[in-house]
Amino acid sequence: MQVLERVGIESSVVDPDKCIGCGACIEHCVFKARSIVRDKCAVDKEKCFGCGLCTTVCSTGAVRLIRARSH
Ligand code: SF4
Ligand code: SF4
Repeated sequence: MQVLERVGIESSVVDPDKCIGCGACIEHCVFKARSIVRDKCAVDKEKCFGCGLCTTVCSTGAVRLIRARSH
């Protein structure tokens, strides 16, 4: 059993067609869950807590939250 459980039930996902690789969401993610891979933003689902902050700073609407757990 993991010592630290995710707080949220959602996880961030990126639409690569909309992502311009600006890095704004990476700067704002306090959990260091985001990075640039091949000029697009990628999310480490093990680190993402589903706080949703990245969705508020993305100017292209490339980020959304999806339900990550059933509870
Ligand atoms: S939802 Fe929160 S924790 Fe997850 S990638 Fe976005 S800013 Fe980081
Ligand atoms: S803020 Fe949006 S466009 Fe910029 S890197 Fe993040 S997902 Fe891509």
